[in-house]
Amino acid sequence: MAVRKIRTGNDPILKKKCKTVPEVDDKARQQLDDLMDTLHSSDNGAALAANQAGILRRMIVIDYEGYYLKLVNPVIVESSGSQECVEGCLSFPNRFGKTIRPARVKVEALDENGHEVSYTVVGEMAKCFCHEIDHLDGEVFIDKVYEYVGIDE
Ligand SMILES: [Zn+2]
Repeated sequence: MAVRKIRTGNDPILKKKCKTVPEVDDKARQQLDDLMDTLHSSDNGAALAANQAGILRRMIVIDYEGYYLKLVNPVIVESSGSQECVEGCLSFPNRFGKTIRPARVKVEALDENGHEVSYTVVGEMAKCFCHEIDHLDGEVFIDKVYEYVGIDE
């Protein structure tokens, strides 16, 4: 069990593009475990991208809506529709805002054993995948918020 520090606010690592993971090896699996431990150490986190925990590699973990996922090199290969979302982020505690996201996305990735997996999801899970994969490209949700709700500062 290794809980890493969650980077917040203006930490420059949140604006960096993460690198493709060349191989799903023991090191990658260890990092995925650390990410999941770090996610579970948070109060109410649903998902975490690697750079939020100081790792500049394309990996995300999700424990949300019945999904428990450790994914490497995730890519959105299809998206359709749009939905109004309310988002928050472990890197921006107590900030919640409205965004527009696709209503449905298809994501392809590798699992922790290096096997190809794909998920086609709607609603909250579509939002979640978009939010996390944005992180891997150095994009944070507050740049997409058009209206803040319930700011608690
Ligand atoms: Zn986030």
